[in-house]
Amino acid sequence: LASPLHLTAASPLPAPEWLYGPAPARRNSTGLDLAVESMRAPLLAAGAATVVPAVPEATAASAASAVQASAASYRQWHKTPVGTRAAMLRQAADALQADLPRFCALLVKEAFKTWGDAIAEVREAVDFLRYYADEAERIMRPVALPGPTGESNELRLTARGPWVCISPWNFPLAIFMGQVAAALATGNTVLAKPAEQTPAVALEAVRLLHAAGVPADALQLLHGPGETVGAALVAASGVAGVVFTGSTQVAKIIHRALAAKDGAIVPLIAETGGINAMLVDSSALPEQVVDAVVQSAFRSAGQRCSALRLLCVHEGIADHVIEMIRGAAAELAGGDPALLATDVGPVIDTEAFDNITRATQRLGAEQKVLLVPAAPTREAANFIAPAAYEVDSIDSVKAEIFGPVLQIVRWSGEPSAVIERINTLGYGLTLGIQTRIDSRAAALAAQAHVGNIYVNRNIIGAVVGVQPFGGEGLSGTGPKAGGPHYLYRFCAEQTVTINTTAAGG
Ligand code: NAD
Repeated sequence: LASPLHLTAASPLPAPEWLYGPAPARRNSTGLDLAVESMRAPLLAAGAATVVPAVPEATAASAASAVQASAASYRQWHKTPVGTRAAMLRQAADALQADLPRFCALLVKEAFKTWGDAIAEVREAVDFLRYYADEAERIMRPVALPGPTGESNELRLTARGPWVCISPWNFPLAIFMGQVAAALATGNTVLAKPAEQTPAVALEAVRLLHAAGVPADALQLLHGPGETVGAALVAASGVAGVVFTGSTQVAKIIHRALAAKDGAIVPLIAETGGINAMLVDSSALPEQVVDAVVQSAFRSAGQRCSALRLLCVHEGIADHVIEMIRGAAAELAGGDPALLATDVGPVIDTEAFDNITRATQRLGAEQKVLLVPAAPTREAANFIAPAAYEVDSIDSVKAEIFGPVLQIVRWSGEPSAVIERINTLGYGLTLGIQTRIDSRAAALAAQAHVGNIYVNRNIIGAVVGVQPFGGEGLSGTGPKAGGPHYLYRFCAEQTVTINTTAAGG
């Protein structure tokens, strides 16, 4: 330690950074070319060659025995030095980076990502592997604490045991890899339950990690429905923790199941949905606003937890902004994600198509329609073109619509009153603020109960290690993924005090 710290009862507890040192400077996605056009040939070749494999499903019974095997494997895996575990994750990161076109093709074929979104997702998965490898090495060193003479005190982080990692289909590689890498880096074993819609991406990700040296029982993959396989994993005895990304509704089910368990209080990390808003005041630049809105609301067909759902625009510029949004949305190329030029692909499946269509029909009947595409066609692979509706009040927006659907409300008066209404929605994932008044942006950001705030830019995207991502309230428990506090939740803390004056001390 650079300088000894003497804690008194009144001293604040030291921040983790004080104990474990600042995070090293990092570069993200080193060496990855992110331009679709510049990778045209390898991407299209991988697209032609890549077949999505079928995968066998687990059962509730096999899930329970997998947890036992995981617990047995944990006894060895947590003793593997953190540097060795980190090296395996870095090796997997290198392999993933080298195999980028094939993974992109899988994402396009199985999750209907556009090529641009697929490249960004592979990049994020590579970053998660490297970031958590670095972070585990940084924080898992024992730290000597100052103490009375005749005593040594050491604080260490230890692994907890088998973790259940449950992930969604909308980032089937990056979120899956992030959860798994965090648990493995900290010495836990993993039972990974990917979304039913995207099993093949998960299978290929696990193959990479096994090839990099992670033992088969330390990382087990269980496919199947959440209600059976996922629920059986959560309920199994011997589970040390659950990390979940998905809907608020399922997070609550898991929370209740864990609370009902006998014999252990099991930690849950939950990252869930949001009703993400953007506040635009009358000083904002319309061109910048429209670009941010179109990116945030319609890119990835709105299937991002961070996507814009509710635009709150000052009445002084509302007509102009709405007209420009209509024009910009009409220029988006929608349709087949396998075409390099496509901006907006289809939604994930017929269930999502039906849910979104029901929501847009209700909005169309009750609210003013601002942007309505040609009738949605399930025949065209569940494609839904961007849609926008004007609503009377923020309070009428009740639920997350997980598709390219934007609701717009006009406001006048004080912007702080708008943030107050947004806070009452109960979610707290992302918020955009568009203003040229710096002091206003700072005050509104401080008022908002939201995990990620974006001033004068679009509200989607989180760079690992640079923009730690996660929400509060109905949007999740924290800690933020890709941030310096995330790995602590996967660890137990142990303080070892030794009387150095005693025999053998
Ligand atoms: P979902 O909640 O339906 O499913 C997520 C996962 O939970 C799947 O693997 C599913 O099989 C499993 N599951 C379902 N029921 C379960 C149960 N009873 N017990 C255990 N596991 C169960 O979510 P989804 O449709 O896959 O994903 C979309 C949702 O995820 C949206 O709400 C979106 O906002 C959210 N999301 C949040 C973040 C974030 O970082 N906050 C990121 C991506 C997606």
